Amino acid sequence: MGNINELCDDLLVKILLQIPTEEVVATSLLSRRWRSVWKLVPKLDFRDYSYKYHATSAVPSEFIDKFLERNVAPALETLHLNLYHLRDYSPESFEKWVNVAVARNVLDLNLLYCLHCRYPIRFPTSLYTHETLVVLRLRGTIIDDVPSKTRLRSLKTLSLRDMSFSSDQTVDRFLSCFPVLETLVVRGWIASNVKTYSIRVASLRSLDVEELVGGYADPRYDHGYVIDAPRLKFLHMVDHFSGFCSLVNVPEELEAEIHLRFCDSDKLLGSLTSAKQLSLCLKPQMDSCLKGDFDQLVFLELCVMCSLDWLNVILKHSPKLRALRLSRTRHSCQNSRNVRTNWERPICIPECLTSSLETVEWIAYEGTEEEENVVKYLLENGNLCFKKRWRKAVYGKFSYEILRLGRG
Ligand SMILES: [Zn+2]
Repeated sequence: MGNINELCDDLLVKILLQIPTEEVVATSLLSRRWRSVWKLVPKLDFRDYSYKYHATSAVPSEFIDKFLERNVAPALETLHLNLYHLRDYSPESFEKWVNVAVARNVLDLNLLYCLHCRYPIRFPTSLYTHETLVVLRLRGTIIDDVPSKTRLRSLKTLSLRDMSFSSDQTVDRFLSCFPVLETLVVRGWIASNVKTYSIRVASLRSLDVEELVGGYADPRYDHGYVIDAPRLKFLHMVDHFSGFCSLVNVPEELEAEIHLRFCDSDKLLGSLTSAKQLSLCLKPQMDSCLKGDFDQLVFLELCVMCSLDWLNVILKHSPKLRALRLSRTRHSCQNSRNVRTNWERPICIPECLTSSLETVEWIAYEGTEEEENVVKYLLENGNLCFKKRWRKAVYGKFSYEILRLGRG
């Protein structure tokens, strides 16, 4: 077996790409062979919460400075700065690091910053014209203005957490700057100035919007957003705060996981009729007047704590449904103040029950009278029988009973 010291620089760099930068730099102490290999690694991944900071080591900002000064890789492909622990990075240092990364053709940039920092951090202006950036993840950054000459033409993945925008229009302008964007994450904008905004991105394939609040907050009826993404494949939307949201131009075969406390459920479902898979926590809606069928829907997950009211309505409108999952696992629905009615046996049997439905899975089945009535109804009318029933199966950290019904 050969000695690792005999490997060429290219192979050693590939190995070093897998470990944190602090350890990459520490390899320079191993031997003369290793003294300069770290300088060829095209990646700086710095997390100040795991940085081993002691009397003889550089302070975090010096460590970043020195790495950038001495690194001689042909390009700095990745710069990940996770600056959460210390709160005194200067805006000038931050801007300087990003400028170096841009000058060295960075492709993948994470600027994740502490929300409670001493100095607010603004979106670095040099980034707006960086045409080759592919991945950008921001946290705790301020965006005041979006220049007209913005050229982020290659950006495919964008994550925006705990951002602060100067106005609703700034959000709309910023989100219109990415002609090939495929993946977008929007999290934690509750505390920002933003009230209503649009996500209009023609190229978008995956969208993850999450506005969670601890416990139960009253709705903000003047807060909400419009999603217009005609090529979307995956939508994950959790919102316990906004008063409205609209989906327009919803494509066929969408997979959507939606947990909304306050939005108009009837209207939302009406715009999701071309979805292929749906996972739903919705506000109960008495006397739903849903128009149109879910004629692509093959998989439906419903939260029984908040959305069992919707079971009969959606089954009636889903002629091709093959799999139904009922679950009691959304802990955020336990303290919901939305009151739903008791499930009632429908008068007409939905078409999918007798033709297409193959499996029913009930996660965290408790065997209440209402749950037993639903199961009895599905068994009687769906040509289904018990397949398996695990008592106290382990699901995540919790012990749940899982009930399975299936054909034959
Ligand atoms: Zn729910």
